[in-house]
Amino acid sequence: MTTTSVPPVVLRGARPLGGEAADVVLADGVIREIAAPGAAAVPEGAVEIAADGHVLLPGLVDLHTHLREPGREDAETVASGTRAAAAGGFTAVHAMANTSPVADTAGVVEQVWRLGQEAGWVDVHPVGAVTVGLDGERLAELGAMADSAARVRVFSDDGRCVHDPILMRRALEYVKAFDGVVAQHAQEPRLTEGAQMNEGVVSAEIGLAGWPAVAEEAIIARDVLLAEHVGSRLHVCHLSTAGSVEIVRWAKGRGIDVTAEVTPHHLILTDELARTYDPTFKVNPPLRTAADVEAVRAGLADGTIDIVATDHAPHTREDKDCEWGAAAFGMTGLETALSVVQATMVDAGRLTWADVARVMSANPARIGRIDGTQGRPVAVGEPANLTLVDPSATRTVDGAAQATASGNTPFAGRELPGRVVATFLRGRATVADGAPVAAPAPAAARGGVR
Ligand SMILES: [Zn+2]
Repeated sequence: MTTTSVPPVVLRGARPLGGEAADVVLADGVIREIAAPGAAAVPEGAVEIAADGHVLLPGLVDLHTHLREPGREDAETVASGTRAAAAGGFTAVHAMANTSPVADTAGVVEQVWRLGQEAGWVDVHPVGAVTVGLDGERLAELGAMADSAARVRVFSDDGRCVHDPILMRRALEYVKAFDGVVAQHAQEPRLTEGAQMNEGVVSAEIGLAGWPAVAEEAIIARDVLLAEHVGSRLHVCHLSTAGSVEIVRWAKGRGIDVTAEVTPHHLILTDELARTYDPTFKVNPPLRTAADVEAVRAGLADGTIDIVATDHAPHTREDKDCEWGAAAFGMTGLETALSVVQATMVDAGRLTWADVARVMSANPARIGRIDGTQGRPVAVGEPANLTLVDPSATRTVDGAAQATASGNTPFAGRELPGRVVATFLRGRATVADGAPVAAPAPAAARGGVR
């Protein structure tokens, strides 16, 4: 059910998934027609958009966004974070649970879900905490969150690891009842006590406490075996090492139901940046080596890694503009993710635009069980959740000019390819001419999570 007073739109000369140019007509919230250029039946009152050479993708879906509300509205709000998401080409995000209060009850996930609807920029799907207060001691009310209006299907203590194997086993068993998934932040806590950056040559030379690859890999290895043992579904957040890619590849070969994500920053940045002592580059998991970067690119190209997820982690100036050891972990990513994927994977000939639609829209929607309404094919009759990209544009990233409320982008001053020209949520433009549209109407009927 979609009701809308939004005028129809004709995208002239757009290339669905980077293929042949076509005229694409959006009306009543769906894709009405895809026709050869000049051959479409243009509805009365239609807005025409010149899209020659632009790539038309399904709206991007982020499985890993920190929106910070409730609790840290000084860093980001649901409204500012989802506006940034729309600017980056997203039509749905999963909001991580490490807010204050923690999203560990039906009440809090419903609050976040409602704030997302009121903002209207993208569909917001709250992630539920695995343990009460993210304290790693007892399971949260997963069933109540699943049954709530927010219909939670993804559960994560992200920011912290569910390190107790008994709790992880129980969570994996519990989510099977409602086809949920446990998304693990893989970080062995004892092996990373006080850690500040990747453990390796650079950490030794500059004297910062190291974070060994094995602290991530040991948890992933344990968890894929637990998922196999109980016959459940595991998602690995932001894997960052060559060894992690190998373990996931092994697990998939064995038939284990595991999916994995990589962040844009782990596709392009290395621990050499720690030599600057600029805390902008302090992130969890840490930036790794060039060999790890090559391994995650190869894993994304061959399908071992299922998705790109931003781990958009906005922080205030006070939390980031300080010495490295005192600074918060994390960097923003919603508004640069697609450009980084274009630079590292598409322009390098390792992924096609159709592949980008798979790893940034279809696969994350499927893992989050929102694939009834998001991550759909670009085809007649499908919901008009779409992103129009000019791949020939270049831009210099300016943190202050972004829609996110926080300026901690690691790409400031860097030139990146590609520009999101327009984003459509159920046929309504949330971004037009490369900028967020001033005041979106409240989200229309959003369709159920399936
Ligand atoms: Zn995390």
